[in-house]
Amino acid sequence: YRKTIIAGNWKMNKTLSETKAFAEELKNLLGKPKWCEVVLCVPYVNIPSAVRLFKDCRVSVGAENCHYESHGAYTGEVSAEMLKEVGVKYVIIGHSERRQYYNETDFTVNKKVHAALEAGLYPIVCVGESLEQRELGVTMDLIAYQVKAALAGVPADKMRHVVIAYEPLWAIGTGRTATAEQAGEVCEGIRTIVRKLYGARVARSVTIQYGGSMNPKNAAELLAQPDVDGGLIGGAALKTPDFVEIVNAAN
Ligand code: 13P
Repeated sequence: YRKTIIAGNWKMNKTLSETKAFAEELKNLLGKPKWCEVVLCVPYVNIPSAVRLFKDCRVSVGAENCHYESHGAYTGEVSAEMLKEVGVKYVIIGHSERRQYYNETDFTVNKKVHAALEAGLYPIVCVGESLEQRELGVTMDLIAYQVKAALAGVPADKMRHVVIAYEPLWAIGTGRTATAEQAGEVCEGIRTIVRKLYGARVARSVTIQYGGSMNPKNAAELLAQPDVDGGLIGGAALKTPDFVEIVNAAN
């Protein structure tokens, strides 16, 4: 069937010492191995340490971005290949903050998805509409466009490595979560798009996450939606007890 994936996105948060403290607490709180896959996406500089620290907790490490070329004259950038070699499994691609602040476009998102797959990473592709787009009634058109653009040229056999995260912009960092119905509806819509592109078998197996103000209080209801296969968690993933509660809600 398909994996449930609970992934934290730390964004630009936590120093190395704070990462160590989090891992120590996580080891005590997480308990026995989880049925769902647990991932923490951390700033580049702390990735090698995080890989080592989170190994005991059976938590996979992800990056928050990568470059689309494998190497070259791109000052300040990090390639998917480099991430793979230090033990990264997942990489967030096309997060709305990168689309908003760093010129990430559907074109670069697509190139990065290819680069991640080429390197053997699992891309977590983020899509989502703004409040204006929702109010105009174009949410599903926009999401369909973003999904199709991100996956352009990706062959069906690579799709088992692709994760899609639905993150409505108006729900990110705002404390205003999408209702379970809204989240479920768009995630179902995304699965329909994947079905049209790749057929029923691929659509059934692709993991689709919800992200945007997910917290211990609303996680169970969101995750109970049949097409919501996990969460991409920002703020609540910075606090060990909250993150663990969300993981437990998925089990
Ligand atoms: P918040 O959970 O802080 O709203 O962030 C969501 C997000 O952007 C995860 O990628």
